Parts: sequence; structure tokens; C-alpha cells
Amino acid sequence: GDGQGAPGLATPRRRSRQIMVGNVPVGGDAPVSVQSMTTTLTADVNATLQQIAELTAAGCQIVRVAVPSQDDADALPAIARKSPIPVIADIHFQPKYVFAAIDAGCAAVRVNPGNIKKFDDKVGEIARAATDAGVPIRIGVNAGSLDKRLLEKHGRATPEALVESALWECSLFEEHGFRDIKISVKHNDPVVMIEAYRRLAAACDYPLHLGVTEAGPAFQGTIKSAVAFGALLAEGIGDTIRVSLSAPPVEEVKVGTAILESLGLRQRGLEIVSCPSCGRAQVDVYTLAERVTAGLKDFPVPLRVAVMGCVVNGPGEAREADLGVASGNGKGQIFVKGQVVKTVPEAQIVETLIEEAMRIADEMGVE
Ligand code: SF4
Repeated sequence: GDGQGAPGLATPRRRSRQIMVGNVPVGGDAPVSVQSMTTTLTADVNATLQQIAELTAAGCQIVRVAVPSQDDADALPAIARKSPIPVIADIHFQPKYVFAAIDAGCAAVRVNPGNIKKFDDKVGEIARAATDAGVPIRIGVNAGSLDKRLLEKHGRATPEALVESALWECSLFEEHGFRDIKISVKHNDPVVMIEAYRRLAAACDYPLHLGVTEAGPAFQGTIKSAVAFGALLAEGIGDTIRVSLSAPPVEEVKVGTAILESLGLRQRGLEIVSCPSCGRAQVDVYTLAERVTAGLKDFPVPLRVAVMGCVVNGPGEAREADLGVASGNGKGQIFVKGQVVKTVPEAQIVETLIEEAMRIADEMGVE
């Protein structure tokens, strides 16, 4: 289908099977989604949820958290429950963390079955647990961690080597009838990366997660990602994207969103983003978010409105939102672009937000 509504792109979208990462469809005719990865210690639940709040406010739709230790695995239930966007657990070798992530309610797991097979062949069990929970798996092949056998065969991480590795990883799950998969084949060189994804796109119908690995500091990483994703997306290849930058992850989301907007693959409408709430929350964020959503439902201009649970960090976390409210002590701090413009009693939050939204619309020249 042409669910993208992308007037500029003449090339039809590659047909991929659709998977669900929590409530976010990936592949098929689903809009290309933007994801990022937290940089906090996953075991630090509050810090991680705060960063997820920032990412969500910036437009991130799926977030990945690293799970290198048992403490991190133990934090997953709280993070998965409170995150407003689906959480993917990133696991390298330990099957026990994969099971923990599935039990924790994570929306997906990134794990390479080749690693699991090497150390402890539990691929079949993982396939069954993931099937039972409806949890998809991302297979992520990186140039830097390519299988020794393939490095020897191809001499280096060529596009062919990356694709062969990815398809082999997939086959380990397919043997168990598991196909709820998306794939990435990352390389730090956009030329290699583009060719790898082209070949992969032709060789399978799994949805593809685009990424340039070790893309570098903000400027270089932005250029590399824009060039590589732009080339592929314009060919209809790519179902979800993650820009990797040596910079705060909010920057990754801004760049990813701008790339999609540049290609006409994302049109912003009214977007309500709410923080997951954490130990600092002084208000029922979910109820407040519902009231704000109802109040601004038919608003005619693209607007990102943040609903944050506390006045301490809320406005700062929601800097990327056009407008927002941070609540506490029966009051709401109304902020525009992260600056508090007024404080009103809780009962006046929705009407004040509508007023401020009108003012922004006026400034944008909308009737
Ligand atoms: Fe951030 Fe405050 Fe919400 Fe906690 S309650 S996630 S600190 S805005």
C-alpha cells in the first residue's frame, strides 16, 4: 500500500511483512518510525524513565535499552510498565536476560541467535517464549562484530558478508518456525551500508531497521545518516530508523525525524507526548494527558504538546515540545519550548493550553 502518503517519492515502498513492536507497527504500510537508545544505566529506573520522557517529547516512537547485567534485567519490568513508548531490550549473549525481558513486558528484544547458539543453544526456547508473548526479535548485524567465519570467507565486512550473516541469523529462528523478525545490517560506511540493505531488501521480506553504526559526532553522524537513510528510503527501503550519534539521544531523534520530514515520510499533526512519570510525579499523568488530548483534539496545526508529571524536570525534559504542562501541588506550569510562561491552578490547565496553542497557531500564520 502507499500508507506513507509520500507525494515526493515515486518509487513504491518495498513490501515487507508487518510486525508489532508494542503498539507501533513496523513494516508493511506502517509509517517509518523513529527510534533511539537510552544512555543511562538501565538499572537506574528513574534516570532511564526520565531520559525516555525526553526522547518521547522529542518524537521518539520506540526506545531501546541495553541489558548487560542482572541489575539491568531486574529494572525492565518497571521501565516497560511506565514507559509511554515501546521498550526494546538489547541483549548480547545471555539467554536468561532474553527470557527476563519477555517476562518483563518488553515490546521486543534485540538479540542475535548466533550468539545464543555459540554459548548456550536456547534458540528454540527463545522462539517459543517470544511467540507465546507476541514479542518480535530484532536481529542486528554489525560490521564490528561480524562472525569470524564470514570475515574469513569475505575478507572484510562487505555488503555480501553482512547480508549472509543476517540471513543465517534469521535461519536459526526460521528452523523453529519463528518469523516475527526485523533486521539491521549496520556499517560505519554509508556506501557499504546502502549496498547491504539493498541486497537484504531483495533477499527477504522482513522489515528493516536502518542504521549507520558508529556514525560519529553530531555533524558527521547527521550527514552520514541523512545520506544513507535518504538513499534507501527514497528507494522504498527501510521501515524504522535509528540515527546513532556520539551526542545526547534526543539529538538522534531530532535528526531522524528531520530525515523523515525531508522525504515527506512524516507529517506532523497534533501530537500529545506525556512523560512515563517516575518517583517525582505529583499528578496522575495519564488522566491529565487524556484531558489535554480531549481539549486539543481538533486543533488544526501541527503541534507537539507535552504533559509532564513534575515541575522539577518536566519543562526541561520537554524542551523539544512546542507547548506543555508540568504539574505539581495542584498547579500546572505552562511552558512554551521549555520556558515556563505561566502557572495556573490545575482546573485551568486545559483552557490555558488551548489559549497558548492558539497563540502559537497565530504566530505560524494559521487562521
Ligand atoms: Fe520526568 Fe518529572 Fe515525569 Fe519523572 S515525573 S518522568 S522527572 S517529568
